[in-house]
Amino acid sequence: MALKQKILIVEDEARIANFMSAVLSAHDYEPVLASNGREARSLINSLCPDLVILDLGLPDMDGVDLIRSTREWTQLPILVVSARMNERDKVTALDAGADDYITKPFGTSELLARIRTALRHVRSGAAESSIPSGGVFRVGRLTIDYDKHWVLIDGKNVHLTQNEYKIVSLLGLHAGKVLTYDYILRAIWGPAASGDNQVLRVHMAHIRRKIERNPAQPQYLFTEVGVGYRIADEAPEESGN
Ligand code: CA
Repeated sequence: MALKQKILIVEDEARIANFMSAVLSAHDYEPVLASNGREARSLINSLCPDLVILDLGLPDMDGVDLIRSTREWTQLPILVVSARMNERDKVTALDAGADDYITKPFGTSELLARIRTALRHVRSGAAESSIPSGGVFRVGRLTIDYDKHWVLIDGKNVHLTQNEYKIVSLLGLHAGKVLTYDYILRAIWGPAASGDNQVLRVHMAHIRRKIERNPAQPQYLFTEVGVGYRIADEAPEESGN
């Protein structure tokens, strides 16, 4: 039997902690619970979990401080749990080094998908902020050919402009993870990029028209309102229309 992956759940609401713990146990992970930041910090050190699920609103400290202090010495994946509407908290947490977030209330399949994505990125060791110079990314009908600098749908080049290609290839490198507006702007337009998301929104609209069947209901390029964008890393269910 394979060794189970240890997942530390940092959550002070017992109901949510127990729900996550039951889901993880049922899917062959080994959950460990911490109900405050101090306990979490000591368990991260002593237990070396494979992943941390972190509620930002802890009784004894701000979850973002825990992310910062953890990031000083380990790249252990951190999945943040946040209340709806707190977009600024999500962005702060991602910029502090969290890998991804999930919004309360969430379902079992969403939780498991986020965990799979975060663990996959550790295994593949995807480098931060470097656009790969070779290889292929494939999900559903979408292919990114990093050798040719092409994006293909059903095997046909959709002819993206250079910046459109850069955006899609960057998202593809971090497939399944949300990238913040600022992160994308700085990666594509450099450190002097203005914090104005408008240019990014225009590019995304053009990209969606080229790759999505219905740009209003995207299957590959998702908007995380107030936070950023995410590209699918698991094939969408095709309705066949
Ligand atoms: Ca809380």
